[in-house]
Amino acid sequence: MTLSLSASESPSEALPRVANWHGLIHTYRHYLPVTDRTPIVTLHEGNTPLIPAPAIASEIGRGVQVFVKYDGLNPTGSFKDRGMTMAITKAKEAGAKAVICASTGNTSAAAAAYARRGGMRAYVLIPDGYVALGKLAQALLYGAEVLSIKGNFDRALEIVREVSENYPVTLVNSVNPYRLEGQKTAAFEVVDVLGDAPDWLCIPVGNAGNISAYWMGFCEYHQEGRCSHLPKMMGFQAAGAAPLVSGEKVTHPETLATAIRIGNPANWQRAIAVQEASRGEFNAVTDDEIMTAYRKLAAHEGIFCEPASAASVAGLLKHKEKVPAGAKVVCVLTGNGLKDPDSAIKFSENNFRQGVEPHLEIVAQMMGF
Ligand SMILES: *Cc1c(COP(=O)(O)O)cnc(C)c1O
Repeated sequence: MTLSLSASESPSEALPRVANWHGLIHTYRHYLPVTDRTPIVTLHEGNTPLIPAPAIASEIGRGVQVFVKYDGLNPTGSFKDRGMTMAITKAKEAGAKAVICASTGNTSAAAAAYARRGGMRAYVLIPDGYVALGKLAQALLYGAEVLSIKGNFDRALEIVREVSENYPVTLVNSVNPYRLEGQKTAAFEVVDVLGDAPDWLCIPVGNAGNISAYWMGFCEYHQEGRCSHLPKMMGFQAAGAAPLVSGEKVTHPETLATAIRIGNPANWQRAIAVQEASRGEFNAVTDDEIMTAYRKLAAHEGIFCEPASAASVAGLLKHKEKVPAGAKVVCVLTGNGLKDPDSAIKFSENNFRQGVEPHLEIVAQMMGF
């Protein structure tokens, strides 16, 4: 651990490249499959803040430093934008007219935004009744053709895979290799800001594209000597949708964290390879643990993420005894809290007193004065 920043400092301010940020493909083009003639489709995604989380850190103690990679601050509100700028750019370069994806919500929002910006049609299949409101709103307004199917994500993915094999549409789920290429830049940013790789990387896992992409990024930087070591990759799944923990597909995945409600991860083999190579772990966190971390991040750190994202922090707190003293931990917050207003309101009902009489004395009394 070579870094001298304390957890209360903001490490990103010193970086000069931030001033003229034109998206992650421009910034990391030497690491990405593009040429001077590639038509880059960008919304200036990436360059998201790495924010110290002192309240979470103090719960662990022993000099452990915790940072969150707040990828909910991407243009459509999730890390999916990192993969989508790359996947849509390559689709456009290849002359595609349309793209398709299955989605628990965020992929559809990102695919729709980038496809439309690149002048392509976007078709998205989502599981009926299990997509957070903000994500659905985005896909619709960006102008995607949205098909809500009577089945779960895993079934939707099977269908779009077949569609893309038989019709002229490009698949942009994380089985598309360009998605992972774009997403690996999040690891570059973490190292660029911290000055080295963290000791642990905690990350929510659904299809396991993101954990695989981070690992690719860390390994590429390590080969170039930009970081001195590789992190232990700690993947967390929701207890009701934890195939990588049990080693078996889950036929009926269930969790409030709808973004990771996945029973048969598309990147299963990759995920196992990452776990082995990094001496990492896959563990499950319950919905209760997820929602506790979700509230804690908002109320103690001022950081609003979506429930699935909080699985990374829930997992860290659950396994805090294993964190080495003085270690630096990065938790990935994959999506913005505004994506899922229903969950936010439902899990903060206690703070909400409605129908209050509009009188000073009554208001002051309810405030506890
Ligand atoms: C897609 C997504 C995940 C899961 O990422 P995978 O690459 O599928 O493992 C986690 N959180 C949010 C908010 C997501 O949108």
